[in-house]
Amino acid sequence: MDGKLTSDLFRITELGASHDPEPGHCLAVEGLHVHYGAICALADVSFSIGCGHCVGLLGQNGAGKSTLLKSIAGLHTRFSGSLTWRGLPLASVRREIAYLPQKDQVDPFFPLTVRGLVEMGRYPHLGERGGWRKLDTEVVDTAIETLKLGDLQKRRLFQLSGGQLQRTHIARALAQEAHVLLLDEPFAGLDEPSQRMLGEVLRELAANGRLLMVCHHDLKAVPELFDTVLLLNRKLVGFGPVTEAFTPEALRAAFDHPPENVHV
Ligand code: ATP
Repeated sequence: MDGKLTSDLFRITELGASHDPEPGHCLAVEGLHVHYGAICALADVSFSIGCGHCVGLLGQNGAGKSTLLKSIAGLHTRFSGSLTWRGLPLASVRREIAYLPQKDQVDPFFPLTVRGLVEMGRYPHLGERGGWRKLDTEVVDTAIETLKLGDLQKRRLFQLSGGQLQRTHIARALAQEAHVLLLDEPFAGLDEPSQRMLGEVLRELAANGRLLMVCHHDLKAVPELFDTVLLLNRKLVGFGPVTEAFTPEALRAAFDHPPENVHV
């Protein structure tokens, strides 16, 4: 991704020029418990992280990764614990947070173009200002350009490859001016070049001050993709910089059958 384009996007948006990491920009989760009926999906999860990081959420199937992202995204209303961003309850800062669900939960046949989906990112900004403005068009243009979707903007979503669809959803999040991006397995099913391109996009967004939390299964790619890891096994079993927290002990705590040949 072109660094200049990204900084253009941050300049054009209204929530702050470069979005440099700021001390107050902190996502804090304290004592989070989530149950689905009798099933305990998350027990007493606590952590806090500032913006400017790309966090890999790791754990075996059913470990609670998606549940954590959905809780932060406000999709679970029945939980106990405290969730704040910038010291404010998440419910009051929803538009600063964007959630990108797993691919199989997105209807690719929904009758929308690439541009139409990216424009939806502006909707939370329209109500208070009464209508679409030139600025909204500029923000959408820049988000599309930043994710290199210019040639695809008139295509329908079902005409996109997996990687192109992921980039479209990220462009929508940028048009929304989201500070926190929650991505559920964005690399699933992508071929290697698409994975590399998406990895580059995520790293650059973090370098520009966004906070990214990404569910991920390919442990070999962790050191390349993320600067921080959060390991779940219903409980938090590891959290910190990749260099400190992505350890064989943490993997043993997270996985019943820890994968072999992972370079940690
Ligand atoms: P995966 O890697 O397979 O996507 P995950 O780590 O994201 O798994 P979650 O989807 O958060 O795990 O699920 C955590 C637990 O909660 C699992 O035991 C799962 O079966 C259960 N669960 C998730 N969603 C629901 C639901 N809607 N109703 C009942 N149980 C659920």
